[in-house]
Amino acid sequence: MESSLAPTSILIVEDEGLIALDIETHLLNLGYQIAGIAETGRLAIQRALASPPPDLILMDIRLKGDMDGIEAASEISAQVDIPIVFLTAFSDENTLNKAKLVSPFAYIRKPFDTADLHISIEIALQKHCSEKIIKQQKNWLNTVLESIGDAVVTTDNDGKITFVNRVAESITQWIKSETLGRPINDVVSLVDRDKNSIENPIFQALRTGQGEPLPEGTLLITKNQQEVPVEDSAVLILDDTQHAHGAVIVFRDVSERVAAKQQLFNHAYYDALTNLPNRSLFVDRLQHLVDLNRRYPNCQFAVLFVDLDRFKIVNDSLGHPIGDQLLIAAAKRLQKCLRPTDTVSRFGGDEFAILLEQCPDFEFVYKLADRINRELSVPYHLSNYNLFSSASIGIVQGQSQYETAEDMVRDADIAMYQAKANGKGRYAIFDDAMHTQVKRRLTLENDLRQAVSDNALTIHYQPIVSLADSAIVGFEALARWEHPEQGLISPDIFIPIAEETGLIVQLDQWVLRQACQQIKVWQDRFSAKAKLGVSVNLSSYHFSQMDVVEQVKQALADAALSAASLRLELTESTLIENTESVAQILLELKNLGIEIYIDDFGTGYSSLSYLHKYPISTLKIDRSFIHHIDSNTDQFEIVRTIIILAKALNMTAIAEGVETEEEIEAIRGLGCEYVQGYYFHRPLTCNQVTTLLENCS
Ligand code: C2E
Ligand code: MG
Ligand code: MG
Repeated sequence: MESSLAPTSILIVEDEGLIALDIETHLLNLGYQIAGIAETGRLAIQRALASPPPDLILMDIRLKGDMDGIEAASEISAQVDIPIVFLTAFSDENTLNKAKLVSPFAYIRKPFDTADLHISIEIALQKHCSEKIIKQQKNWLNTVLESIGDAVVTTDNDGKITFVNRVAESITQWIKSETLGRPINDVVSLVDRDKNSIENPIFQALRTGQGEPLPEGTLLITKNQQEVPVEDSAVLILDDTQHAHGAVIVFRDVSERVAAKQQLFNHAYYDALTNLPNRSLFVDRLQHLVDLNRRYPNCQFAVLFVDLDRFKIVNDSLGHPIGDQLLIAAAKRLQKCLRPTDTVSRFGGDEFAILLEQCPDFEFVYKLADRINRELSVPYHLSNYNLFSSASIGIVQGQSQYETAEDMVRDADIAMYQAKANGKGRYAIFDDAMHTQVKRRLTLENDLRQAVSDNALTIHYQPIVSLADSAIVGFEALARWEHPEQGLISPDIFIPIAEETGLIVQLDQWVLRQACQQIKVWQDRFSAKAKLGVSVNLSSYHFSQMDVVEQVKQALADAALSAASLRLELTESTLIENTESVAQILLELKNLGIEIYIDDFGTGYSSLSYLHKYPISTLKIDRSFIHHIDSNTDQFEIVRTIIILAKALNMTAIAEGVETEEEIEAIRGLGCEYVQGYYFHRPLTCNQVTTLLENCS
């Protein structure tokens, strides 16, 4: 209601002058102000629209002219909001019904008394004021409902739609006018994750007074059959007597949040390069099976640990982008080999793990491992390179004694190492012996670390003999480890451990320094043998070390040994794996006067192209070719070819591992000049060598 204290102004619409004056008098007596008297409908409209407008219009129904009071009232109501009270002497049904159409605020019959007039006018003013408040509230509510970010849909008690806001229109893709009166299920159609219908919470609210929130993952099916993830809340709409007259559902589109959540999940559980599940997700799934297996020991499953052979070479030599492509291609091949229920995951680097659920039998697992081996050894064609790879696979079978997924993964990993040790490109099945072996190896690793740091290793020296006169021309220094409990341990066992743990650098350096000093002692003592040389094995790890040349120089200087007395034995793999650095290092060593030997020649890579690239003086023919050379024509041919090759490249050949008279004769026949083998001497202790040299001189 207006707050002004000015008296209410009333427009009188009356065509009979006397009656108009009578009304005016009544009104003035009642304290009202007269906004004017209009005799016709048209004048009434004019005055009603003028400024200031009257607060109320007293309208006679019968008027002179072409427009009666009802028509004038309806035109005024269409344009301004002024309460109208009809005045009439007639009260026939027809007129009343016509008057009702313009919703008058009151209806006064002439002749009237002052009290009736007063009451009717005051009620009309009051009613108008309430309606205005309601209208304002409605507008306010409408603005709020249209401006909030949530969708709002209201229904009546039967679940038929009575209101939808703009957001609801946009989410459901229904237009407001189509929705009104429709069942809510048509417009707000909800399904769960598995696409089963969900009851609209509106109905729950209508039944119980409160709708349960929708379960997570609820989807709304739009008019165009699209799926939108939504969240909601629904409540009853109560009237002032606390009776329900409909319900409201408020919901929102949570697509963005769901997408963000999914992205977070992907980051946490998927490998970005291959899009495969990562270790966390794999272990999660595996743990589930491990738990299941403890309850139902008959469910058969297996874990395969797959490691690409020689991936590091590809990565180091062709660069990471090609390495990445290889991993992606390998991941695809792995997926191709599996059933949809199996999980293949990337653990990082070139390691993949596969979880085979419900294996019919273990035959199935082995066949699959074979298939994976075959698939992964097909050459890859990537960025104009033909790349050859293979995989080593460790298999572990799900057994009820496993408590954690990590234990199973660990054992599959152990088996994979076994497969690699057995010669790559194959699979190995985990068994208890492997476990014991790994444990033993771990202990050995610790003991070796201790031995190396305590300088507890020793060196044996195996003479290298000239076939022409059986004279000793030098020695190979061979590391020996006398384990306090296990006795003498072969270098074939401890050298690979030293290489894997990095201890080899320290170990080789120690051997190098010791051997230089020892050979110097012998040279000095047996001056006739001043040309005695010593061969020292250098693991390929040294070539990733920047200071290998410095180390060698220092060892020579400290022993006061001439560089010409030192030979370094490298394997073929050293040359292949370190192509960049190795050429430079070898050149520097050669310039110092040191000779480079290729050890175990013939067992490494088949490429011979590197031979002329490096300053190599000698090929040591691997003992596997020498063994039984007298009776094996293939070996005989290989050795013959190596000797011809060495001569052609101006190199010397040394035959390793000669054990018998027959082997000696065969080698001599092929024109090989030097040998190293049990036939002449086993590796000897320092004292044994000293005695030997004493006897020869
Ligand atoms: P390698 O460098 O090829 O050494 C020759 C191996 O052949 C030695 O085995 C030697 O004892 C063995 N051998 C020599 N003549 C005969 C024979 O007539 N018959 C048989 N059956 N074997 C013979 P060892 O001492 O067990 O060493 C094995 C391997 O361990 C060496 O092979 C070498 O690769 C590695 N190694 C030994 N000491 C060191 C070292 O100080 N540093 C590095 N990096 N590796 C070492
Ligand atoms: Mg050697
Ligand atoms: Mg050798």
